[in-house]
Amino acid sequence: MNKSFKFICIYCTISLVLLSTILPLILRANTAFSAPDNPLKGKIILIDPGHGGIDGGTSSGNILEKSINLEASLILKTELINRGAKVIMTRDKDTSLENLCKDNDYRHRRDLKARVNMINSNNIDAYISIHVNAVNNAPYVKGPMVFYSNTDINSKTLASYVQDSLNAIAGTSRSPNVADYFLLTNAKKSGILIELGFITNNDDKNLLVSKDYLKKLTTGIVIGLENYFKNK
Ligand SMILES: [Zn+2]
Repeated sequence: MNKSFKFICIYCTISLVLLSTILPLILRANTAFSAPDNPLKGKIILIDPGHGGIDGGTSSGNILEKSINLEASLILKTELINRGAKVIMTRDKDTSLENLCKDNDYRHRRDLKARVNMINSNNIDAYISIHVNAVNNAPYVKGPMVFYSNTDINSKTLASYVQDSLNAIAGTSRSPNVADYFLLTNAKKSGILIELGFITNNDDKNLLVSKDYLKKLTTGIVIGLENYFKNK
């Protein structure tokens, strides 16, 4: 065998070995890069903007909770749809829901029952109820809070992920809270209730009327949902 032919043979062998080991790694890396996991794709999320219509929720001057809830919920809806999720809304306009419940009960309870019925009768992966907080005689208390029912472990997990991502946005360090709210305890699906901030705190109040801030918060909610479905 002449010397240069021998060299070519060795060179080709080394190249083939290298290609067969490195190529699959490169291809795998490219696949991961071009088609990242999308944990929200195909997921069905119910969004419940609290209050509405005759029920303004909490307020400060002419700033009404029901309007902040609806605006944030509609932004959240768009963000979720953009990530491939399907969205069901309990309301998408300024209306209360008691007319959807025929029970012999008082107006506010029928409104809440209508929301619970929508959660329980739809095939959903999670629900998010959006509210704004208020506290008497504590104007310094601020920041987002996430509530869940301790009857469902998945709700607790979701609450942790969402509270973490909201903490990162608002600069708070809260843990999620257990609550026995009617909606949370009667819903038979996994979900959470989010208080976006305190209308009784001046900083929060100024932020909550800003669409940019609501967008930041809803992005935080989306990140929390993504982390939840990624690890589920
Ligand atoms: Zn509320």
